Amino acid sequence: MLKGKTALVTGSTSGIGKAIAERLAREGCDVVLNGFGDHDAIEAQRESMEQEHGVKVGYANADLTDPDAIEGMMGYVMRDFGGADILVNNAGVQHVAPLEDFPVSKWELIIALNLSAAFHTIRMAIGPMKEKGWGRIINTGSAHAKVASPYKSAYVTAKHGLAGLTKVTALEGAQHGVRCNLICPGYVHTPLVDGQIDDTAKARGMTRDQVVKDVILAAQPTKEFVTAEQIAGFAAFLCSPDADQINGADLSIDGGWVAQ
Ligand code: NAD
Repeated sequence: MLKGKTALVTGSTSGIGKAIAERLAREGCDVVLNGFGDHDAIEAQRESMEQEHGVKVGYANADLTDPDAIEGMMGYVMRDFGGADILVNNAGVQHVAPLEDFPVSKWELIIALNLSAAFHTIRMAIGPMKEKGWGRIINTGSAHAKVASPYKSAYVTAKHGLAGLTKVTALEGAQHGVRCNLICPGYVHTPLVDGQIDDTAKARGMTRDQVVKDVILAAQPTKEFVTAEQIAGFAAFLCSPDADQINGADLSIDGGWVAQ
């Protein structure tokens, strides 16, 4: 479906981004990976995607908190792949602390990575997309792009900001074949969350099932995790012709979290 296109997926060495990169490669798209991790593991991921899907897969090790590094990454994508037809702004981190104790360095990191990095990739990618008359920009938001939780000031602020950036981008691209949308997941069962389940179970003397239903998924009415593959399928749909008129939308995939 996406043969001949190139997707840049930030934060694709792990979790949701990795699943999106895999899925777009399965759809025939060349892919540029980005994110941190063990060099050999990333190279193995890159090679296996190339072999399994018969597409070209590159890797940019840019630290997305650094605008110069982002510029370097976008230059690499333009030089070696002819630019990003699909841009997935997915890299993100979290920090949980009350406002009065929230470390200023964590605030700055989260705003830079979860929000400003998307501004930089978009400002460099949208011109060539408009020239080609086709582009898909997908931002990974969160239920926290729509509602808040205590102790997550930087994350909630960045994700709400990303919702605004998504709408502006959608309007600027609308008559040039460029679409921009925000996917807003609830909880996804990453290895990180798995560790939290174990820790909480031990600390509170609960079973893993109780922790998942009553603690981790307290806000998620289905009491089931969203899977990274479901988000990846959603992203692939947003790149398909059926989604051509979906633009500037903040799309929940959260088991009903924000319906409450
Ligand atoms: P993850 O920790 O598994 O993956 C994060 C990715 O970002 C990794 O590839 C990591 O190397 C990369 N990264 C981190 N710092 C970076 C930096 N400075 N520069 C470049 N890359 C960097 O996390 P995930 O759970 O897959 O989350 C991915 C996105 O999904 C994030 O934006 C997150 O806010 C969002 N999200 C996650 C959940 C969840 O429950 N896991 C829910 C809603 C939204």
